[in-house]
Amino acid sequence: MYHRFGETKYPSTNITVEQLESHLTYLKDEKFKFILAKDLLFPENLTSKTISITIDDAYLSFYEVGLPIFETYNTPVTLFLNTENIGVNNYMTWSQLNDALNRGVDIQNHTHSHSSLPKLSAEEIKEEIEKSQSIIKKNLNITPHLFAYPFGEASASVQEIIAQYFDAAFGQHSGAFSIDQRYYIPRFPLNENYSSIERIRDASKALPFDNISLLPQDSFLNPPTRKFVLEVPGGVKGINCYIRDFKGSFEKEIKTFDKQILIELSRLPVSGRLRFNCTKVDNAIQWFGYQYLIN
Ligand SMILES: [Zn+2]
Repeated sequence: MYHRFGETKYPSTNITVEQLESHLTYLKDEKFKFILAKDLLFPENLTSKTISITIDDAYLSFYEVGLPIFETYNTPVTLFLNTENIGVNNYMTWSQLNDALNRGVDIQNHTHSHSSLPKLSAEEIKEEIEKSQSIIKKNLNITPHLFAYPFGEASASVQEIIAQYFDAAFGQHSGAFSIDQRYYIPRFPLNENYSSIERIRDASKALPFDNISLLPQDSFLNPPTRKFVLEVPGGVKGINCYIRDFKGSFEKEIKTFDKQILIELSRLPVSGRLRFNCTKVDNAIQWFGYQYLIN
C-alpha cells in the first residue's frame, strides 16, 4: 500500500518516483500477476505470484505523479477514499476522481472524516459509513463494497459493524493476504523508509499460514496485556515473531508447544499501535502480521 507520490516532505507516507519505478520494474520482471483488491476475494484468482496494489487517502500526488506511472507499467490499482478531504488542498477533486475511475482505478471506501474508529460509538461509525457511501454514490455513481480502516485501526466490534456494509476490509499491518482475515486483511505499507528491493521481494513472495491466529483476538486492547498466544495448526517450528510499539521492539519470554507459542512481553505496551510480525523462512516466506490498538 502507498499514500503519497514524490512528496519528499512526508517520508513516512511518501514513495519517491525512483522507488516506485524500481518496485514495479522488479514485480514485472518477476512476472507477478496484478489484480484489483476486489478480485482477491475469489480464490480462483490467486496464485503464489498474485499481487494487489492499494492507495489510501486520494492525495493529489497520486493523480499527478502515481497514476501515470501505474499506467505506464499497466498495473491496476485500488484507491481507498475518505470523502471529507476531497477538493481540499493537496487532495484530488471529484472531477479528477471521475477521470481516475474512467482510467480503470477501482475506488473504495476509507470513511468520511478519517477518524480512528475503535474509539467512536456504533452510531458514529455507521454515520461515517453511510455519509461517505452516499457522497461517493452522488459524485461517482458507484457503491463501494470494500473498506480500509483509517490508520489500520480496528476492534472486534468495529469489524462487526463494517461487515454489515462491506464484503471485506483492510488494515495496514504487514502480512500475506489470506481470506481468513476477511475483515482485517493485512497490507504491506511501503514508504521512503521501508521500500528497499529486499522488502518488495519478501513482501511480494510472502505466503499466508493456514488458519493461524493470535490471541487476544480483539485488535483493540483495553486494558493492555503482556500475554499473547499464537496458534498455528500447521506447527510452530521455525517461526519467529518480532513485536514493536511506539517505544521500540520488545524483549519477550517465549514458551513453545507443538502448535502454540505463548508470548509474554517484558513490559506493558504503550498507548497507540502494537505490531506483531511472525515469519517462517525456508524455501518460501510465510508471513503473519497483526496490529493492536492499545487504549
Ligand atoms: Zn488513510
